[in-house]
Formats: sequence, C-alpha cells, structure tokens
Amino acid sequence: MGIVVQKYGGSSVADAAGVKRVAQRIVNTKKAGHQVVVVVSAMGDTTDELIDLANEVSPLPPARELDMLLTAGERISMAVLAMAIQNLGHEARSFTGSQAGVITDAEHGKAKIIDVTPGRIEAAIGEDAIAIVAGFQGVSQTTKDITTLGRGGSDTTAVALAVALKADVCEIYSDVDGIFTADPRIEPRARKVPRISYEETLEMAAQGAKILHLRCVEYARRYDMPIHVRSSFSEKEGTWVVKAADVAGVVSEEKEAHMEAAIITGVAHDRSQAKITVVGVPDKPGEAAAIFRAVADAQINIDMIVQNISEAKTGLTDISFTLPQGEGQTAMTALDRVRERIGFESLQYDDSVGKVSIVGAGMSSAPGISARFFEALSEAGVNIEMISTSEIRVSVVVAEAQIEAAVNAAHAAFELGSDEIEAVVYGGTGR
Ligand code: ASP
Ligand code: MG
Repeated sequence: MGIVVQKYGGSSVADAAGVKRVAQRIVNTKKAGHQVVVVVSAMGDTTDELIDLANEVSPLPPARELDMLLTAGERISMAVLAMAIQNLGHEARSFTGSQAGVITDAEHGKAKIIDVTPGRIEAAIGEDAIAIVAGFQGVSQTTKDITTLGRGGSDTTAVALAVALKADVCEIYSDVDGIFTADPRIEPRARKVPRISYEETLEMAAQGAKILHLRCVEYARRYDMPIHVRSSFSEKEGTWVVKAADVAGVVSEEKEAHMEAAIITGVAHDRSQAKITVVGVPDKPGEAAAIFRAVADAQINIDMIVQNISEAKTGLTDISFTLPQGEGQTAMTALDRVRERIGFESLQYDDSVGKVSIVGAGMSSAPGISARFFEALSEAGVNIEMISTSEIRVSVVVAEAQIEAAVNAAHAAFELGSDEIEAVVYGGTGR
C-alpha cells in the first residue's frame, strides 16, 4: 500500500497521554500496511507560550531569533513522539524541517515553501521506519537560517511533504471530527460536511473558519492532493477536501436518489476584523487611489471596501474598509500622515466588528441566496454594515456582539442544522 502523511495538531499531542495515544494511532496505520510520514505541531499551547516568553525579554523580538525559538516547540513534540512509537516496538525517526528538506524563502515568520527535497524521509520509510517531521519550519535557501511558515503552518508542511512524496492522502488530525457547517463552538447544531471542494474550503478558511491553514489548501489544490480532515480523538470518518468535480459527482448521485443537494456548504465567521472610515473625501478622480496607496505602502492587506454616494451639496463622500485588527494602528498612522495632502476630513476606527459569510459552490446557479441571507439577519435583528460577494460566497460585516446571532440565523435559514448534536469538541483551548 502507499504512503500516508498524517499531521497531528497541538491539541492532539497536548501532553504525554496525548502523545502516547497518537503514537498508537500511527502504529495502527503502519500495521495496516502503509508507509507512514507524520508531521507534528508543538504540544498544546507551546507556541503561544514561547511567543509570550520572547515578548517578556524583548518588546520587539528579532525575527530570526523568534523563528529559532518557535521551532523548538515542534522539536520537542517530534522527539517525544518518536520515543513513544519506539516504546511500542516500532522504528521511528524524527527530523527537523531542514533535515526533511523543507526549503523556504527568507521571510522570517511567514516563509513560503519553495522546494521540498525529502531524501532522508524517503530513506527512512524505505528502511521501514516511521518518519516524524517537525511542522511549521524550514530552512532558507539563501540565508541558510531557520524559518517558520506562519501560525498554523504545520498543515502546509504536511501537504507539501505529501505532494513531494506522492502520497495517497494527507490526513490532518485535530480536535474536531472534520469541517462543519459552522463553528460547533457557537452553533451546536452544526453538521459535518462529508466532502467539500478546495475552492469552498479556501473561501471558508479565508473568511475566518479555523479549519485549515489557507496556504495548505492552495497547495493541495494546485497539486490535487486530497486532504482528509479528522479527529485524533475518534475513529470517525472526517471531511474530504477534494477537487470540485469529485464533490459534484457525489452531489449528482444524491440528486438521483432524490436527496436535496445543499446550496450552501457552510457559514464562517471572523472576529478579528476592524473597520476604518475615511470621512469627507473629495469626490474627484485619484482620491481612492491615494488612500489605498498609502495603506498598501504600509504593507496592509485590506478586505472589504465600501464607498458611499457623495452628497450633492458638499461633494464629499465617505470610504470605509475592513482590515485585520492587528494592523489597525499602522493603517491609522499611515492615513493620518497623508490626510492634508489627500484632503479628507477625519478618520474613524472601529474594532468591534466581525464578518459572517455563507459559502457554497451551489449558489452560483441558485437565485435569491443573498435575499434569504439578509432576511434571516433582519429577522434576528442583526444590522448589516458592509457587504461583499464572490462567485461562491456572500459576506457581511456586523457588530461583533451580533456575530453569534448572525451565524445562528444563517445556519437556520439554509437548513444546515442536524436534528441531533453531531459536533464534539474533544480538546484544545481554542487559543
Ligand atoms: N505550532 C505552530 C502554531 O501554533 C504551528 C502549527 O500549530 O501548525 O502556530
Ligand atoms: Mg499550535
């Protein structure tokens, strides 16, 4: 049988008992006849604790040293996992990202994988050993320094290795049974989605659903690597993330069996948004360009933009946009600096907003989806501040305090809920 890459997240290996449980699972996979390569995250909240520690000794930890520090978390988990497997009588060898051939660019804290040369991993599994690889880390081709891929990056390590090793599947284990129609922590009736396309998963992840690292899904889509998202705490089948044609095949089978195919796949929410309103912008060519140039030059990624119609008597308009909360201060400073030159009146900042999105490939051929979504929100008394859409998504910005009500309303309006409580959150602090 073929190669299976399994990735275990921090909550699956939070303590010695977790490590032993995961070790047993890995051994079972090996015994079933597979060659197993495991990617592991740091134990529990180790990464957060290491970041806290760095911040205690330095207000602005140097990026190179921060990466060196953070990669220690995965070094601990990979070594103890290898020990636990050996204790079960199976050969296991741990490898750092660098040893596993994960080559990146030199961007500390958000390095991109540019090549994977897994010679040592192939050698290990060729000798019938289980290979354990530290997730989230690599080595820069140019500087030879140790890099990290960004928070949650172990998913990407796993997919990249699976592609390089031509594995049959990349299994991603966490503390929930798969991808749900909404976050089970706020929607208890959320249902597990059996199959979802890469595109829908990308939209869900980009809209705040903490399911998979965005880049890992992009990577999987590019190389058509199936991902099986499942829980390490149960034996249940999880969610398969596959190409759209494979999802469509299953959906048409369901139609033949007279089952209703869902138009909406899920509801995602994101609490980490902030909104900036540029007040009193002169309504003439070049103003929006100048505003967003200033924001772009500060390296800030914006999301939604709304420009109001200008008032006839003043000739002034307001422009609002959303961005990640963490970048709010930088954006405000950058805009304030160009206020006089651009000639707008003032700036407003609001970080108590959030985003709620419905995602589904079926919506591109179904009319009335936005109307149904907005009606549900209005019945729940939720005020919409901004709207944006893509081919397979509708997103709204609402007050942070209304996120939960909005998710529940959308979930009910598209009949996504199950009759029984399906979702179990097995562990993790959600930190
Ligand atoms: N340990 C890293 C983090 O917490 C990477 C990961 O978990 O994927 O972000
Ligand atoms: Mg983690």
